[in-house]
Amino acid sequence: MKNDFDLMVIGGGSGGLASAQRAAEYGANVAVIEQAPLGGTCVNVGCVPKKVMWYAAQHTSFHKLAADYGFDIKIKSHDWAQLKKKRDAYIKRLNGIYERNLKARNIQLIRGHAKFKNQSTVTVNDIDYSSQKIVIATGGKPIVPEISGGKLGIDSDGFFALDRCPSKVAIIGSGYIAVELAGVLAALGAKVSLFIRTKSLIRSFDAMLSEKLKSAMQHQGIKVIENVTPYSLEGLKNNLFLRSEDHEQFGSFEEIIWAVGRSPNTDNINLSATAVAVDKNAFITTDKFQETNITNIFAIGDVTGREALTPVAIAAGRRLSDRLFGGMSDRYLEYHTIPTVVFSHPPIGTVGITETMARKKFGDKIKIFTSSFTPMFYALSDEEDKIPTTMKLITLGDEQKVIGCHIIGDGADEMLQGFAVAIRKGLTKKDFDDTIAIHPTSAEELVTMR
Ligand code: FAD
Ligand code: NDP
Repeated sequence: MKNDFDLMVIGGGSGGLASAQRAAEYGANVAVIEQAPLGGTCVNVGCVPKKVMWYAAQHTSFHKLAADYGFDIKIKSHDWAQLKKKRDAYIKRLNGIYERNLKARNIQLIRGHAKFKNQSTVTVNDIDYSSQKIVIATGGKPIVPEISGGKLGIDSDGFFALDRCPSKVAIIGSGYIAVELAGVLAALGAKVSLFIRTKSLIRSFDAMLSEKLKSAMQHQGIKVIENVTPYSLEGLKNNLFLRSEDHEQFGSFEEIIWAVGRSPNTDNINLSATAVAVDKNAFITTDKFQETNITNIFAIGDVTGREALTPVAIAAGRRLSDRLFGGMSDRYLEYHTIPTVVFSHPPIGTVGITETMARKKFGDKIKIFTSSFTPMFYALSDEEDKIPTTMKLITLGDEQKVIGCHIIGDGADEMLQGFAVAIRKGLTKKDFDDTIAIHPTSAEELVTMR
């Protein structure tokens, strides 16, 4: 048996690292177990490489409009392999920074795959490690449906491994990853077909966002093919076909990318040695304090099946350590009014309730304010190059408390954070309107809507 830690964290991703570092800052004796490069999904195969690719894609639209501003620029080609090389090097630097951060706080990094031996002991590379408290922060992995030929497709991890831009690609799914990857690939030169099971993209978001995004994607040249439930994938590498449940065949494609959700990493850690409870989809069940049904075992981040976002995992991890080691006995993460951005083209920023939910919950007590306009960035452009922005505020009651804010358009990603603070603090439409606008910006619409 090795060591007896105060806290042992399984998983060195967003949540695990945040929890470990905060606990060590309070003086706890902490270990992190990680089987892969530090930083987890976000750093290695998620937010970070995705955002790099999104920025690359943004360049395409900037360059397209450069002539309107007097520049004589023509893009000759795009070197995907070079972009990947630089992106990978950036991520490697981040991996190193994360490792140094652990060292600086005297956190022991145990490299390898962890499996529970019992409720307070974990085995890594045949060595047992015990701890007073254990945090499970093992995250998740992409789902590849178990249909015939399913494995002929790649997932988001496979997308980041690509060293070339596929010329013709199918993406299956309708959530965050599907729309983000579709936008990047289309901008960087691929012919993209996006297959969705219903008629709507990002269905859990406000319907306005879903509709406007679909038009924007179609405008970008992405084929959105509706009502397709995948039945099988067929063919050979670089010459792939998708067959739907009603036996229509689509193809051929150089790559087919699955983007149909993620499942938790709870199937390979010998959880049964602990009796920690999981729900029907194998996510670990936790209460508001991130406690599982076993007293000394906690879970945070994607593995808990709550909002699968990096800042959520980090906030849950830090608050947990504040409570366990920082004397803040009531500290926990409130899982509401969580702002989120979809890095589509154009991006989406959204926080709070959707109009459909608000109408269901509050009936005619809600009032909707909307604004649609063309950002000044396109003032000099031809009509067909213009990408509109649409915004919606949802207010409740006579005082018009703002309970939802939904934006699709250039800059929505950077616009939302401040408005999320306002909405979390319960501000009203009058508070918004009393705030002096910043001109000329797109964001000023949010404080001038009638
Ligand atoms: P992870 O970051 O997944 O970390 C879990 C870690 O545990 C991994 O490093 C894994 O190797 C390790 N592990 C698992 N099992 C074991 C074991 N048995 N032993 C040892 N180690 C183990 N979120 C955003 O907020 N913004 C974005 O823009 C965004 N973009 C995304 C894009 C993509 C393509 C994807 C897939 C996700 C994106 N996310 C984004 C979501 C975000 O990445 C996750 O919510 C976040 O990484 C979750 O953190 P976590 O700590 O719960 O898990
Ligand atoms: P999502 O849950 O966002 O979307 C997946 C969607 O795919 C489902 O909602 C469903 O939509 C559809 N789907 C499910 N199964 C199938 C199937 N068998 N065939 C066809 N379509 C199917 O998952 P993602 O994988 O896109 O992303 C996982 C999570 O990662 C996100 O929920 C998010 O929390 C996080 N993430 C965050 C990002 C950000 O912050 N910008 C970016 C990327 C990921 P329907 O029911 O409508 O068919």
